[in-house]
Amino acid sequence: MINTNSAKLREEARKYAPGGVHSATRNVEPFHVFTRGEGAYIYDADGNKFIDYQAAFGPYILGHNFPYVNNKVIEALSRTDMYGVGTTDLEIEAARKITVHVPSAEQVLFANSGSEATFHAIRLARGITGRQKLIKFQGCYHGWHDYVARNMLSSWDKIGKRDPGSAGMLEEAIDNTLVCTYNDLDDVERTFNENKGQISCIIIEPIPHNIGIIMPQPGFLEGLRELCDANGALLIFDEVITGFRHSIGGYQKVAGVTPDLTTMGKAMANGFPIAAVAGKKEYMQRFNTQPGGDVWFAGTYNGHAVGTAACIATIETMENEPVHEHIFRLGDRMRSEIRGILDRLGITAYVAGFGSTWTTYFMDFEPKNYTDLQHNDAEFYVTYRKKLIEKGIYKMPMNLKRNHLSYSHTDKEVDITLEAIETVLKEMT
Ligand code: PLP
Repeated sequence: MINTNSAKLREEARKYAPGGVHSATRNVEPFHVFTRGEGAYIYDADGNKFIDYQAAFGPYILGHNFPYVNNKVIEALSRTDMYGVGTTDLEIEAARKITVHVPSAEQVLFANSGSEATFHAIRLARGITGRQKLIKFQGCYHGWHDYVARNMLSSWDKIGKRDPGSAGMLEEAIDNTLVCTYNDLDDVERTFNENKGQISCIIIEPIPHNIGIIMPQPGFLEGLRELCDANGALLIFDEVITGFRHSIGGYQKVAGVTPDLTTMGKAMANGFPIAAVAGKKEYMQRFNTQPGGDVWFAGTYNGHAVGTAACIATIETMENEPVHEHIFRLGDRMRSEIRGILDRLGITAYVAGFGSTWTTYFMDFEPKNYTDLQHNDAEFYVTYRKKLIEKGIYKMPMNLKRNHLSYSHTDKEVDITLEAIETVLKEMT
């Protein structure tokens, strides 16, 4: 694949930005400078065309440059933008729609990124309970801030140990964040017992998509709900990836487990920058957007017309068109036909997924937590992805990354992808 323009532009990018990229994990090989996105496809500076399954880590549930959403944003910007006082018709409608669909969302506040949303949700939980500690799970990612940036994609020897994800983190923040094993209720119960009356909340990706797709085992999410209730802690579902992607009401609607607070982002606005924290009214009223509230919540760009108009249009599309039916059908097809290919070629692997997401772990059993993923053949996983990129199928060339289908993908793209997968796997075995 010719990559000369991308290579030249990369050199230029490195002059002005450290590493030439503007978020960690974007500096991957092969490196592409992307210039266009349309539906299920992305294009780079050399004119290479890819079927996109990276979806910018998940926002593109309808596809790139989805006309209905883009037009609604343009229409909104032709009359409005932001004011920094009062509210807007767009904020009211976007918040209303979220409360209609997301079971835990009695009230909503908008922010600009998932990290802001998880930061605010945790601070609210601390404000409500008067407790400092929280529980997260090994392998889960909830953004870049000090409350949660530990024990994410830990090296294997750091599992179960103190593993801050960044230099410069506040020591107290690291130590007040306790880390449990996903799908292990005994571990969570033990942690509550060892920290009696000190844990403000559990924050969890209901499906830990930051390490691929690990499904909650029956009773796990329900058990967390019970443990939180028994211990006076709040349950926060971080639905920044699962929200709107796995159903219009998020994964909480699928699981039938209602958290106290929910964080959302990504698919809620098909790639436009907006995020939200939502939850029970009695809790949300503690934010100081409400007179008398004592938990600070502010942001210059919160509720900007771009994000709120995109959010309304994205949800409207899900309300009016068979978005989830379509992406779930393609997801089922992708997973079952990949299983068929693996069987035919005699390759041991576990095809994981839910709805529009899937990944193929090269290991011989279903992983239930991050520790299990040591059995995945990381080198094979990454090489396989790089070879698919060469064939015009863009999957993030990193270990444990998931793939996303969008409403713009069709059976044609699935056919092309499956053919490429079979060819690459044949080459590799
Ligand atoms: N929560 C989850 C589950 C995420 O996957 C991410 C980002 O990938 C975040 C929070 C942080 O969101 P953002 O990158 O918008 O700050």
